[in-house]
Amino acid sequence: MSVLDETLEPIYQQVLARNPGELEFHQAVREVFESLGPVVAKHPEYRKAAIIERLCEPERQIIFRVPWTDDNGQVHINRGFRVQFNSALGPFKGGIRFHPSVYLGIIKFLGFEQIFKNALSGMPIGGGKGGADFNPRGRSDAEVMRFCQSFMTELARHVGEYVDVPAGDTGVGEREIGYMFGQYKRLTNNYESGVLTGKGLGIGGARVRKEATGYGTVIFVEEMLKAAGSSLDGRRVVVSGSGNVAIYAIEKATQLGGICVACSDSDGIIIDETGIDLDMIKQIKEVERGRLRAYASRVRSARYIEDGPIWKVPCEVALPCATQNELNLRDAQALIRNGCRVVAEGANMPTTPEAVRALMEAGVLFAPGKAANAGGVATSALEMQQNASRDSWSFEHSEEKLGEIMRAIHARCAETADEYGMPGNYVAGANIAGFTQVADAMLALGVI
Ligand code: NAP
Repeated sequence: MSVLDETLEPIYQQVLARNPGELEFHQAVREVFESLGPVVAKHPEYRKAAIIERLCEPERQIIFRVPWTDDNGQVHINRGFRVQFNSALGPFKGGIRFHPSVYLGIIKFLGFEQIFKNALSGMPIGGGKGGADFNPRGRSDAEVMRFCQSFMTELARHVGEYVDVPAGDTGVGEREIGYMFGQYKRLTNNYESGVLTGKGLGIGGARVRKEATGYGTVIFVEEMLKAAGSSLDGRRVVVSGSGNVAIYAIEKATQLGGICVACSDSDGIIIDETGIDLDMIKQIKEVERGRLRAYASRVRSARYIEDGPIWKVPCEVALPCATQNELNLRDAQALIRNGCRVVAEGANMPTTPEAVRALMEAGVLFAPGKAANAGGVATSALEMQQNASRDSWSFEHSEEKLGEIMRAIHARCAETADEYGMPGNYVAGANIAGFTQVADAMLALGVI
């Protein structure tokens, strides 16, 4: 751990004391604080207005009971969350996660990161996040629908086009967003399309939203490589996960000439030296909602390794797109040993702090999730725009917009890192650029 600036250390200690046991939240706060020393030195007005203390305290935290009935008539209870972290730049915006590991510390880490990511996206959106400790795995369609309806029955009181606009995240895709939107519409008697993003195309969704996070991550990688005088063409790529972000990261990397040789789910990994057959992955994951091991039984060139160590598969570009803290120091060392040149976070906080340090010290280009995976939320903001104007853009136009946004985020991170004397440090660039934008808006809004 590096030492924090002397004005930031007591604030960090206060965060630890006020939010006991929320380890991921502590980690996310510290990661941002480690970049802010030069900023607080340059801007005493932030200290006087207690901007950092206010940023670490969510505007509102909602925790609620989610009762639902399974197909056998058995009643279950889950816990739902919505943390409305910061609305200085616009309505709260951030996804909903359904996963058994969800608790307040996870939602707060995600919500905190979302503030800076949304600022970096250049869109007028604040930061928030929600979810439930519900495990959708193995649940029937009808069970998922009843869960979503119960979840929205409470959430509906707290969201709205100008208030808080949730989207998907782990375990929440187009199907779940559709059920939640349906319940919201029923409860409010209002076809308020802009209340949720990530909707299906037939109910007000936007083209390229599904692809946006994965595509955006790879566009960011291409920009980093371009700045270093290189490109993705012909490079070996390894992607963790096989969900929404991973699938479309593989798609875009392949379109740009990369060769994706491995991906994973929480049971194991597949390695396919001929390049992953993405149609097969989509069939297994998006259509059948199945397990990755099925790939190896259908594709002869593939190997499946139960619990396999994905980061030991040699590659030049590594894209962690599964979950938080999935790439640790030993994984980073393996990547460095095998000649990896770029690591870009498609997932949120997938790389541990020690691993980030090791990668950067070894000269690996490292893109933090706040910047690299901001294409998803940026395209959600485009969906809000289309809903507000009753418009529907073409795939080409939407993809072009995504490209512009990702290139602008890359440029902003790189320029900010230069300005603060840390060229090539995308972590510092992203944290400082996102933070100063939100801090200035908070100053302008007064003490609220
Ligand atoms: P998803 O569609 O639910 O996919 C998650 C994938 O990661 C699944 O393949 C899952 O495997 C795998 N996974 C989860 N936990 C794992 C573990 N412990 N070890 C190995 N694999 C694991 O979720 P997603 O939307 O792609 O989100 C993935 C990450 O991207 C999350 O960190 C999310 O916060 C972040 N993110 C998402 C978006 C978005 O637009 N969706 C935007 C920005 C950031 P199983 O199926 O076996 O669980």
